[in-house]
Formats: sequence, C-alpha cells, structure tokens
Amino acid sequence: MKRAITPGQISRTNLELIYDYIYKNGPVSQQDISYDLRLSRPTITSKLTDLEAMGMIKKEGQISSDLVGRKAAAYIIVPDFRVAIGVEILEKQFKVLTVDLNGSYSLRKVFPVTYANTEEYVHTVCDHINEYIESLSLNKDQLLGIGISIPGLVSADGAEVTYGRILDCTGLRLSRFQQYLKYPCRFLHDAAAAAGSELWSSPELPDFVYLNISIHLGAAMIRNHEIFTGMHGYAATFEHVQIYPDGPVCYCGKRGCIEMYCSLSSLLVGDDEDRFFEMLRQGDSVCRERWLHYLRHLARAINNSRLLYDTVYVLGGYLAQHLIEQDIDFLYEEIEKMSPFPEYRDYILISKMPVHNITIGAALPYINEFLDNPAPDT
Ligand SMILES: [Zn+2]
Repeated sequence: MKRAITPGQISRTNLELIYDYIYKNGPVSQQDISYDLRLSRPTITSKLTDLEAMGMIKKEGQISSDLVGRKAAAYIIVPDFRVAIGVEILEKQFKVLTVDLNGSYSLRKVFPVTYANTEEYVHTVCDHINEYIESLSLNKDQLLGIGISIPGLVSADGAEVTYGRILDCTGLRLSRFQQYLKYPCRFLHDAAAAAGSELWSSPELPDFVYLNISIHLGAAMIRNHEIFTGMHGYAATFEHVQIYPDGPVCYCGKRGCIEMYCSLSSLLVGDDEDRFFEMLRQGDSVCRERWLHYLRHLARAINNSRLLYDTVYVLGGYLAQHLIEQDIDFLYEEIEKMSPFPEYRDYILISKMPVHNITIGAALPYINEFLDNPAPDT
C-alpha cells in the first residue's frame, strides 16, 4: 500500500526548500526562487510570508529582476535566528564564542581558569558560560546548544571523555557540566572540532585527514563529509603512531610517538612560536636547520599515513598560519624520496581556518543540525 503524503508534509518540505535556497544563494528575489525551484508564485509568496513572520528570513534591499526596469525585493536569511556557543577547554584557560547560521563567530572571550578535575572548576566554568550567555540577551529558542571541546577522545554520544591524558580528564562526564547549564551541551574531541571547521570552509573536499598541529598534535579523518572515528574512537589518532621505538617518552606513556616529532612543542622546545618563525623567515641558519629537521619528520608521518589512506592532508592548528608554499614543496620532495610510487603534488593543503577553528568547530554541529532540519515542528 502506498503511503500518502499529507499537505502538511508538502508544506514543510517547500518551506525547507525555500529556506535552503535563500541560505545558499541569498540575496535572491521571488522570481529567482520560483524559477530555480519550479514552484508557483503563490506558494512562494505564502512561504516567504511564513518564514519572515518566524524571523528566519528578511528583506534586504532590492535586486534586479528579469523584467526590464523593475527591481524586486531581495531576501536573505537572518544569520542569528539561531546561534550556538563554542567552548574550548585548555589547561590554563577556556575560550568561548558565539557562532551564527553563516558560521561567523562573534563575542570571543578567554577566561584564565586552570583546569582541575574538581566540582569547583566545573562550577566556575559553567558560571562564566551562563554569565556570557546572559550578556547575549537571546530570545527563548535562539540558542541551539553549547559544544565543549576537550583535548582528548570523547564517546560517540559526546557524553564522556574516554581518553584525556593531556588534562588528566579521562572519565569526565558531561552531566557534571550539564547540571549547571540551561541549554543542551556535548563534548567534542578538539581535533574533530577543528576538522569540522575545515569541513565547513572547504565543502568541496569530501575526504581528508586534518592534522591539528598545535602545542600538541591531533588529527581527524573526514570521509564523505563526515568525521570518521572508527570502531573505538581511535581512528586517525595519528599522534600516537610510533615511528621510533627508542624515541623520547610521549605523554601517553609510550616512546617515539609522532607527537614527539611533529607537535609544535617538539619543534619549539620552549622557544616563543612567533619569534621562532620570525627568525626562520629572516634566514636564521639554526632555526632553518631545526625547521627542515621537523619537516622531514612531518613528511615521514604523512607518508606513512598516506600509504594507508591515499587522501588529502590538511595542515592546520597554530602551525598553519606560519606555513608557506615552499614548506609544502619541501614536504613533497621528502615524501618523493620515501614513496615507492610515482608521486603527485596535489594532496597537501594549508588549512583555510587557522584561527579559533576549535572553538568555532565546537559550535558547528548544532548549526549543521539546524540547517539539516530548519522548519519548526508543527
Ligand atoms: Zn603517544
């Protein structure tokens, strides 16, 4: 028996189609929508009225129509109709910002609160987040949720930290935060949050490995536009792949992990990041030698992984803002020396979002979920 589609479902689908069209193409006129979506003008007029009444879209200026000499009202989405909060937990501080439906961030704040696995810490962080949210003066349904990034692996449902050696927070449960927060929240692995930001800014890339090269190294794998975490959440934990069994001890307790050769701390060994790169680009020979040594390790790490996945590698994290094309050329040259196969130079990219990517990425799952299903339940 065929199932019937109700008029309510058709109406909802049309509303979502029109909203999605304006989201992706705005500013647009009624005529643009009608032509591209093949919907009747009365249907569009009615849905635009509904969307405008709900505050989801607005008229902004006028746009040339095909009719000679006539201008039509231009429609765009209201970017802050819904927003999400991104929080990034670090050892010595935590960061908060607001992300709108266009993925733009605002009102970034940094709170110098040192992590501790105590109730007092959780309470303090949540008090700051609640005060921050109050200062936004949002209406009742405007805030979708709060994404909290953690430098560690989290369970698939975002409810628990399953491996958190950097902060010693293994086993930390989301419920300890949720009890003080009035909005839905979830944990995210920081590298996955960063990769989510990259995915947002590079929708043309369906598959890639994202390397979050900051004080510590992290990675995430994107497959078919989604983060792939594997059977136990260990997929792409690149940082703990052992490349030198007799190497220095990693924070994970094992020796010679990629973390010990390719993280920013392994490069800087205590030096100031900006100063190091300033001296490097001015031609300092000691810095250059250290840099090339570092890049050779990074090339080895990428090559080892690439022989398994043969995909695109996006170099992100704090390192991304310092990278130049000659560095990428050097990586290709080093990989060509190691790889048995004919080589291409089309798979190493510098991140498009080197700044605040983790904090923004922590909020983006809420934004993506809204955009996948924007029409209100009726
Ligand atoms: Zn390790």
